[in-house]
Amino acid sequence: MTKRTPIIGGNWKMNTDLESGMLLAGEVADAIGSCDCCDVVIYPPFPYLQPIDSVIDQSKVSLGAQNIWFEENGAFTGEVSSQMLKDLSVASVLVGHSERRHVLGESDALVSKKMSASIQNGFQTVLCVGETLDQREVGNTLDTVLGQVRSGLEPLDISSLKKVIVAYEPVWAIGTGKTATPDDAQLVHRAIRDCIATMFDDTIAQQTRIQYGGSVKPDNAADLFACEDIDGALVGGASLSSDSFTAIVMAACDS
Ligand code: PEP
Repeated sequence: MTKRTPIIGGNWKMNTDLESGMLLAGEVADAIGSCDCCDVVIYPPFPYLQPIDSVIDQSKVSLGAQNIWFEENGAFTGEVSSQMLKDLSVASVLVGHSERRHVLGESDALVSKKMSASIQNGFQTVLCVGETLDQREVGNTLDTVLGQVRSGLEPLDISSLKKVIVAYEPVWAIGTGKTATPDDAQLVHRAIRDCIATMFDDTIAQQTRIQYGGSVKPDNAADLFACEDIDGALVGGASLSSDSFTAIVMAACDS
């Protein structure tokens, strides 16, 4: 059970259309109501940020973006700047999601630049980290994950850490129906917290929220949230149904 306020993120990826996205956002906002035992963020596709903001702006649900570019403006075809996200009332940004790293080839160096830009622009910034199955099978889980944490947090100073969330998402568990056992996930979360303590200090490490992601569903959420260092979840597939997403939010509230 976490001593920090849990945070549940719904990463819609490249799913929904305008109508179904607005409906889903409205259902989530209604179901969450005035609940303040947990922070809730949804990350719709870029083109729907503005209409979805109009659905959730009076609610407890915050608006998030799935990506950001690190330059302020210029010849970066297809990219979206910090100012553009601010104009759309975005509060939270995902950086280094495994699909950005492994499908679209983002390096640690690029993720690190995006972390700086996102933090400098005042966004709550979720640094996503996680090992592939190959890395896990050869015993490189912690080396991989902690390397990504060090590289992502290295450009930041301690005062900006309060804006940072880390999402531990084993790549082999994302969208596969496989979930890390609570014990395995807890071990990595503790290692991430210890790494933050070494890089900054123990006080900020104890305050930093570390979400788990990878096939989180209503039926496995409570066991994960029972772990001391798991402070919520980043949810993909199950965030596309308001029933399953709000059941995960309720599991976090009950933890
Ligand atoms: C994700 O997209 O970050 C994720 C964890 O997806 P899923 O819950 O579908 O595994």
